[in-house]
Amino acid sequence: MNFQEILGHAREIGILKSSISSKRVAHALLFAGPEGIGKRLVARAFAKALNCASGQDDACGVCRDCLAFDSGTHPNLLEVWPTDKDGERDPLGLIRIDQVREIQGTLRFKAESGMKVVIVEGADRLMPAAANAFLKTLEEPPPDSVIILVTLKPSDLLPTVLSRCQRISFGPLPEDAVRAFLIENKGISPAEAGAVARLSEGSISRASVYIEEGAHQKRREVIERLSTLGPADSDEALKFAEELSKRDDLDDMLEFLKSWYRDRIVAFEGAPHLIANTDMQRNMKDSGVEDFNRLCSSFWAIEEAKKSIAPPRYGNKQLTLEVLLLKLSGAHLM
Ligand SMILES: [Zn+2]
Repeated sequence: MNFQEILGHAREIGILKSSISSKRVAHALLFAGPEGIGKRLVARAFAKALNCASGQDDACGVCRDCLAFDSGTHPNLLEVWPTDKDGERDPLGLIRIDQVREIQGTLRFKAESGMKVVIVEGADRLMPAAANAFLKTLEEPPPDSVIILVTLKPSDLLPTVLSRCQRISFGPLPEDAVRAFLIENKGISPAEAGAVARLSEGSISRASVYIEEGAHQKRREVIERLSTLGPADSDEALKFAEELSKRDDLDDMLEFLKSWYRDRIVAFEGAPHLIANTDMQRNMKDSGVEDFNRLCSSFWAIEEAKKSIAPPRYGNKQLTLEVLLLKLSGAHLM
């Protein structure tokens, strides 16, 4: 992938491109920002541009170096990421000392041409011993090399590591960009794409998971079902609670229900442009006149239910959801 093909991040890419054209590329960079917005793609595109035979500020995509990058075989690129005990990729795993040694080994020899680039994904997962060993490399990076640390949590990095890197902060993608991407690449309707784009908070990967796992359809179902429950439907509310309590994706479902109340609150407050479930607004009209205090207490009741069934409390799921659903339906007032 070239810079040109990357969605959004014009400012961040602009900084990198001008560093290439002015030949002032930093030897250590920190790419910080939320999950799933394309930090690693930008890092790879940067590595490719630095090694492209065209000598321009973006990769040409056709030279031998570009082709080697596209097939993942270019000798100047090394990518490392956190792994579990068995060496499998794991975002919650660790970057270990032998991986740092591999980086040092790669950088020991000068590149035949272009620049050696090491991309360290999940840099906040460097084990302390590995981080200390890595500091030496960051202190004296070999010429013609670039180390890019990628992280969601720059605050978890050692201050000594942070201070040696030029930091580039990535913001979430604009909602319009995510929406356009979803319409074009995922084949969903503009109204649905708008809702998913907003719920995914500027993250393409989160939006894709929503769609691929059908979560976005489940969101509609769970909200629709809730919005048909009235104070006289306590049996139905209890049945719904029992079904929900058996779901593996209960946490997501409760998040969707929260988003539904948040939407109704912002609509009540006269800020309909902040509604996330834009495709569900019809159901909102069916809910009739809203009671602001009840909407807020319902929102917090869902949050409280989420907490009480999660560790360390592990409350009884079915019981907690029964109390919650009776409250949300209004049956507890009868
Ligand atoms: Zn090229």
